[in-house]
Amino acid sequence: MKVLVINCGSSSIKYQLLDMENEELLSKGLLEKIGINGSNLQHKKGSKKHVIEKEIKNHVEGLKLIINALVDKEIGVVSDINEIDAVGHRVVHGGKIASSLRVTDEVLKAVQDNTFLAPLHNPPNLQGIKAAKEVLPDIPHIAVFDTAYHQTMPVEAYTYAIPKEFRDKYSIRRYGFHGTSHRYIGKATSDFLKKPIDELKIISCHIGNGASICAIDGGKSVDTSMGLTPLEGLIMGTRSGDIDPAIVPFLQEEEGLSPEEVSNILNKKSGMYALTNNKFLDMRDVENRALVNEPLCKTAHSIYEYRIAKYIGAYAAAMNGVDVIVFTAGVGENSPLLRRNVINKYMGYLGAGVDLEKNECRGVSRDISADDASVRVLVIPTNEELMIARDTEEIVKNNLEELHLS
Ligand code: ADP
Repeated sequence: MKVLVINCGSSSIKYQLLDMENEELLSKGLLEKIGINGSNLQHKKGSKKHVIEKEIKNHVEGLKLIINALVDKEIGVVSDINEIDAVGHRVVHGGKIASSLRVTDEVLKAVQDNTFLAPLHNPPNLQGIKAAKEVLPDIPHIAVFDTAYHQTMPVEAYTYAIPKEFRDKYSIRRYGFHGTSHRYIGKATSDFLKKPIDELKIISCHIGNGASICAIDGGKSVDTSMGLTPLEGLIMGTRSGDIDPAIVPFLQEEEGLSPEEVSNILNKKSGMYALTNNKFLDMRDVENRALVNEPLCKTAHSIYEYRIAKYIGAYAAAMNGVDVIVFTAGVGENSPLLRRNVINKYMGYLGAGVDLEKNECRGVSRDISADDASVRVLVIPTNEELMIARDTEEIVKNNLEELHLS
């Protein structure tokens, strides 16, 4: 079965076409600047990249361009559109949805109804699903939600101690994000260690520009660092992560800022960007300077590591133990410095340690634990698209309406 996985932003479409026979990636690409001057498609066949510059007004036009590229005689990877069997869609906020779902009118309504929880993400996701159904009307479309995996969290983990009135009225609770990545990491860890997932306590550290940590006990998410929105938890490229909530009204009052302005500051002008005095948000820039002891970046990096370490400690407590800590995503997969500092500075008491030689790796699956460590530390590249394609295949093959995630 060939599955097209798509991830729509407001002005972009990321896609991958996978052959699920052997989980082979046939093609991937990115269409940018939809509805803006300079739209262009970067389409990859094998390692070769082709750039097509064409004005694209909307997502329907964008998807048609992508399909044309996929079936093109020279740069395409299938000979006919009918070779595409199903589409898997990434949807950011599913609210209380706990499964991956075949797209129906009700599912579209549910995505729409959850827009108030993810106003920047759900509308383009919805637009993408509708456009794809228009362009590929005869094949199944499956929605896979970033939040769904975390619906197994217990009440202790998802409840905020604010008045019930508000929790109920606005569905305020911890939802968590990156669920598809954490779920992939859970399974990949169990495969890597050749141990059943229900026997493992895993702490999955998805450290990219956006970053979150998940406690996975017996295959189920039992806590995660992002909350009602992706702002909570770790320090990120431009997001503050945890702060004292009293800072919000204080800034509003002292600086005369609106709620939108404060939200913008915390989401777009904080994090590593703020800690480096508005200089860097790309972790490579910070690390290169931290490594040569440039004071600002060294301190920023230490603050960043410390927050990660605190969450790992918290989740070891939440699960009453930990067997394996896994690093993934852009920084987690590629930064020996981060892994070494987080584990070797802070996790000795848990029985975790990183072997410095094994740790010198990027973008590969590897056990980087020190020989005498009792808690394993792994690097595993995440693959959210593959997880979406797997769910899509399972729903379609078994003619299901929904796929329970744990
Ligand atoms: P997102 O999907 O949230 O945009 P990614 O998972 O792609 O983020 O991660 C992007 C981050 O990974 C950037 O901050 C980038 O600097 C960092 N990164 C990529 N390669 C390296 C590297 N070799 N060393 C350190 N950080 C890296």
